[in-house]
Amino acid sequence: MTGMPEYEVFAVRYAHREAKRSDHFIGGDPHDGPMPMDYFVWAIRGAGRVVVVDCGFNAEVAARRGRSLLRDPVDGLALLGIDAATVPELVLTHLHYDHVGNLDRFPAATFHLQEPDLHFAVGRHMRHAHLRAVFEVEDVVGLVRMNYAGRVRLHDGIVGLHPGITLYPAPGHSAGLQFVQVNTRRGMVVLASDVSHFYENMESGRPFPIVVSVADTLESYDCARAAAASAAHIIPGHDPLVMQRYPAPSPALEGIAVRLDVAPTGVAPTGVAPTGVAPTGVAPTGVAPTGA
Ligand SMILES: [Zn+2]
Repeated sequence: MTGMPEYEVFAVRYAHREAKRSDHFIGGDPHDGPMPMDYFVWAIRGAGRVVVVDCGFNAEVAARRGRSLLRDPVDGLALLGIDAATVPELVLTHLHYDHVGNLDRFPAATFHLQEPDLHFAVGRHMRHAHLRAVFEVEDVVGLVRMNYAGRVRLHDGIVGLHPGITLYPAPGHSAGLQFVQVNTRRGMVVLASDVSHFYENMESGRPFPIVVSVADTLESYDCARAAAASAAHIIPGHDPLVMQRYPAPSPALEGIAVRLDVAPTGVAPTGVAPTGVAPTGVAPTGVAPTGA
């Protein structure tokens, strides 16, 4: 790792909803039961840089969609010492409502998105209610306006954003979904976002039901695995287990944010975790297996 910066990586939990297992897997689940969902934004800091990944939804959208907004995502970032007003770069993993609802709160940011996601969100498929349900038209139009203001970088492929921070297209859940690979003190961490909503989607090879392409979703699981130092370095986009497996940056942030650049609590060091072992195989003591 000579010369490559090692970054701090954070997840901020900003919303929550109650749900059932059958909500989260194509074809349902034979052992249906409660399976709540968390909502996150992420931040990368180091080498004099701050990169925020996604920006959550706002209170109005939370109320309309029946989600429990735990805190304004911008306030959550502020608790980490990150001022949205000065953040220079915001990576948008995709344009679904729970990832891009606060673009206007980042007045200094350049937005990074894979171009196919924008094309899909303004294209012919949006006449279908089923496909447009996961978008907020004002968010999409807002991004178009940002593009006309010269503030959007639309990519089509792998992007070396900075040394140690790389964006990878991983379509399936959305047409232009991307994940973020970050070099940390424990090796390459993958902020998978909605490549895998829960650990269990990837581990069991059963995609989340909101999909543009099931085939691409399954291929993108492997792309995320290949980019991570181990399976324990992959961070799913909506899994409450993330808050259990990783430590808070400080006692004051318990239950609000976690650090992802340090090993998950109780998990064997990556040096002894065989490559390709599913995270459940190294689940920390006291945490129920995700398949339970
Ligand atoms: Zn999402």
